[in-house]
Amino acid sequence: MAYLCELTDELVLARHPDPELFAALCLALEQVIGGAPQALHLRQYELAVLRCLGLSPALTSCCVCGSEIGGEDSAAFDGPRGGVLCLEHERGAPRLPAAALAAIQHLEAGGDPAALASAPAGLRRAVRDAIQSIVRSHLRRPLHAQAFFAALPRDAGAEGVGAARLC
Ligand SMILES: [Zn+2]
Repeated sequence: MAYLCELTDELVLARHPDPELFAALCLALEQVIGGAPQALHLRQYELAVLRCLGLSPALTSCCVCGSEIGGEDSAAFDGPRGGVLCLEHERGAPRLPAAALAAIQHLEAGGDPAALASAPAGLRRAVRDAIQSIVRSHLRRPLHAQAFFAALPRDAGAEGVGAARLC
């Protein structure tokens, strides 16, 4: 929960009141308080925050030239530069599996995160890394809550919703 609030505070600041973002924060907090905090809910919330700030990543067309992307096993994706990139502009950008890109599109479109719960861990990790690369590039400083989660042992919470897995 600290992570949700801190993320919102850092990215949005008090000068940018936004009903849509507030609604998204309420929903995310509800999910966390409701006892089933899932990493994918956080990913969806991060996408909502980015959308409210006009920072949504390009997912279907090159973020530099706008040419359409798709039809391959993976796409070049550079979060800080703005999303997917075409062959001409991908220079050195990391590759994102097409399935991870589709998962991000699903979350971005407001799809149920639970639909992705059974996705392979590697795919969920790729989704997390891609979204967080964007979030991180817009933060003024690392979040305390995130550092806290990162410091927890990875196997904390054997029942499956260990705090370490939230971020
Ligand atoms: Zn391009």
